[in-house]
Formats: sequence, C-alpha cells, structure tokens
Amino acid sequence: MKILKIKAREILDSRGIPTIEADVWTKIGIGRASVPSGKSRGKYEAVELRDNEKRFLGKGVLKAVANINGVIARNLVGIDCRKQSRIDNKLIKLDGTENKSRLGANAILAVSIATARIGALASGKELYEYLGKGKKLPIPCFNIINGGKHAGNNLAFQEYMIIPIRFPCFKDRLQAGSEIYYTLKKILEKKYGKKAINVGDEGGFAPPLAKVEMPLKLLFQAIKEAGYENKVKIGLDCAANEFFKNGRYIIDNKSFTTNQLIDFYVELTNKYPIISIEDPFAQDEFKAFAALRKKIGKEVMIVGDDLLATNPKRIKKAIKLKSCSCLLLKPNQIGTVTEAINAGKLAKKAGWKIMISHRSGETNDPFIADLAVALEAEFIKAGAPCRGERLAKYNRLLRIEEKI
Ligand code: PEP
Ligand code: MG
Repeated sequence: MKILKIKAREILDSRGIPTIEADVWTKIGIGRASVPSGKSRGKYEAVELRDNEKRFLGKGVLKAVANINGVIARNLVGIDCRKQSRIDNKLIKLDGTENKSRLGANAILAVSIATARIGALASGKELYEYLGKGKKLPIPCFNIINGGKHAGNNLAFQEYMIIPIRFPCFKDRLQAGSEIYYTLKKILEKKYGKKAINVGDEGGFAPPLAKVEMPLKLLFQAIKEAGYENKVKIGLDCAANEFFKNGRYIIDNKSFTTNQLIDFYVELTNKYPIISIEDPFAQDEFKAFAALRKKIGKEVMIVGDDLLATNPKRIKKAIKLKSCSCLLLKPNQIGTVTEAINAGKLAKKAGWKIMISHRSGETNDPFIADLAVALEAEFIKAGAPCRGERLAKYNRLLRIEEKI
C-alpha cells in the first residue's frame, strides 16, 4: 500500500488563521489531516513554521506547505503507508533539528496524521484501533468559562472546566456538559446581562469578570442547578506562565510569591470541588509544581502543559521531581503521531494519568478523539460542548462509543 502522492494546502483554522491540511494518496484513497494551533504557547514546544511575510499578517504557512509538497513528498512517496513509525522517523530525520524548526512541526504533524489515517483504512481498522489497543472512552473536560489569552475579559486563569465523573458512559457525560453549559448561560445572562454570554476561543463563555474565584462560584451554581452536584467536578487550566512577571504571579491585581500562590490554590480547592489543576505555575517551575502536588496531590490532579510540552526529556524530569500526576498531551507540541504515543506511554508507565488536548485554534479534524481511545487516556479536553471544531472531537467519541 504505497504512498503515491502527498499534497498539502493552506486552510484557515477556527480563528480564521492559516493552518495546514495534508492529503496522502494511495491506490485505495486519500488520508487527510489538518493541524491546530495554540495561542498560549510554551517556549519548549516544537516549532510552528510561519511565513512572517505581509500576507495574513505574517501568519501564512506557505513555506510549511512547500516543505510538504517538496522535500517531504519526495522522500515518502513509495513507502508503505502502514509503516507509521518508519514514516515518522523519516520525517524526524529529514527535519534534523531538535525542535522541528527546519520543516515545521505543523508540516510534519499534518503528514504524520494523514498517513495514520490512510494506514488505518488500508489495514481495515478504525483509526483508534490502528493506533493502539485501547477500549475505554476518556472523560471529557469541558471548558465553559474562558479567560487569559483566550478571551476579551480580565480573568487571569485561562480555563474553567466541568468534569462529569460519575456517569456510566460518554454519551451521558456529553449530555451533562451541554445541560450545565446552558444552565450557566442563563445564570450569566440574569446576573450580568447579555454581554456576559459572548464566547471565547474555545466556545466557553467569556463574562466580564475580573476575580479568578468568581467563575468557580458560577460553575458550582450551574452544576447544582442542572442537578449534577456530586457527579460533576471542576478543573482549572491556570496557564500561569501568562501571568508570571519578574518572578511573581499577578492575579486580580495582586502579586503572589510561589508560596502565597500555593496557599491560594489550597484555599480554592478547599472551597470548591476542584479535581484538576493544569499549569498552576510558570513553565520552568518544576519544583513549585512538586510542592503543590505534595500538598494537594492526593485529591487534585496536577497537570503539566507548558511545563512538559509533550516532550520526553521534560516529562522524565517531571517524573523524577514528582512535579505532576497527569500529562497534558498535545500532538502538535511534539510533532509526530509516534512521538505523541510514546509521550503518553512514558507518562502512563510512571503512574500518571493522561489528558489529551486540543488547541485553542482548531480545525474539524477529530484525530485527538481517536488518540485518546487508543491510549486509554483518562481525560480529553476539547473546549466547550459548543462550536463545530470542538464538537468534531466529542461527536467522534460518540461514534466510537457505539462501536466498543
Ligand atoms: C492550553 O493551554 O491548554 C490550550 C489548549 O491553549 P492553547 O492551545 O492556546 O495553548
Ligand atoms: Mg494549558
């Protein structure tokens, strides 16, 4: 089942910013994939190659597209599409840099996923079956209040998620997510008026609140009013790197030291049913993460995103220092399907949980849903249960659930 041709193009993501779509051709058809793009990006992520020219205000990806249509296509045509690790290794070698800055991780990942998709088809398997042995659906974490870089409000924390834990199946979790989302909408409109129900980049509401505690109160109220108390918990992505200035954390116009911030997180977790905190500190603060884990790690999952960047070296360091208990796995932080799977396995082996993640700029490609099932990830976050590019992932999981 040889690759006959590879063709990429520039398309637009959910924010209307260019991204890449790649088609891998074989005699039985085309495998197509597109890649997402983050806004609160960590400095240890693989490089997203952009043109930095006048068109699209510098955000064009024609250089990355040319890399696929040129050097990548030339080297992959003729290889069996079912040899995923061989193809990914070839892509890594062709790039030749530590952070995929030559060809672009966006170019490389688009081809890697498109190949996996046609490889699955050629093998007569669903993509999740092709990528792993998993048979369990992940628990969705719905981001229903947006702050930080994803919203036009002043909330320091980036994501306020509801996590439906006590349910028999994915379908019921999605229903609870939707019901709580619309209950919250009513509460917001009644309390603050129409301006509070505008949405942010990931489909969650972006109310004009300034204090980071307020959304927690509102989420808890919405969970209760929708009738899901005890069944649905709360998760945060603080994305603390974005409010870390000169060694201090600036929240609600107050300046916190690491120890003061630890105390603040302890206070919040005592007051609200929080079971997960992502990026509570800046991207190099392995020890601060560990200190928080030591304090609340039994009840609360400490999730590493910018800290780990889905990078095996950084994951190993965090395992050693006991910084986290969950890997946030974003395929485009590392750049190939094989490396993303290996990152997940590394975390699993250390006894961590896995949360597969979308990016704030998305496409309708549901790849991460299949990846979550393949790896038996405990969690997936793909934004609110609202907006097409977010539902593409959740609806794909509904279909997978019917099959397994
Ligand atoms: C995140 O920080 O977890 C996230 C999804 O945001 P972005 O894609 O902007 O990095
Ligand atoms: Mg994050």
